[in-house]
Amino acid sequence: MERSRPTDERLAQRARTLNVRHFGGRLRWTSISFVDMAHNWGSCTFTTGEIRIARRAAGLPDWVLDYLVVHELAHLDHSDHGPAFHELENRYPLSERAKGYLMALDAGAGRPPSGELT
Ligand SMILES: [Zn+2]
Repeated sequence: MERSRPTDERLAQRARTLNVRHFGGRLRWTSISFVDMAHNWGSCTFTTGEIRIARRAAGLPDWVLDYLVVHELAHLDHSDHGPAFHELENRYPLSERAKGYLMALDAGAGRPPSGELT
């Protein structure tokens, strides 16, 4: 269980900043932390408000890491990837570019295109 691990302070700060900048400071989560994930870049448990970002994302450029955080923050409002979700995600102006960056990374690592983050 990852639950006992302390919240990662860098991630928590970015999440607070992005929440204010793009969501009017309205979103609430219970924890955000780096965890080991083999296939996904991030995940959000809608029911408990827990956000996890893959540990290997810690080395990504800040603007790509910010996209991952925005994606998971948007899941606090919408558990699916529908139009309302995308409206939230696209408040971060570099979302499309970050997705392309991650797809290229996945391809370079021989992973199937993650395209769908969770
Ligand atoms: Zn997602």
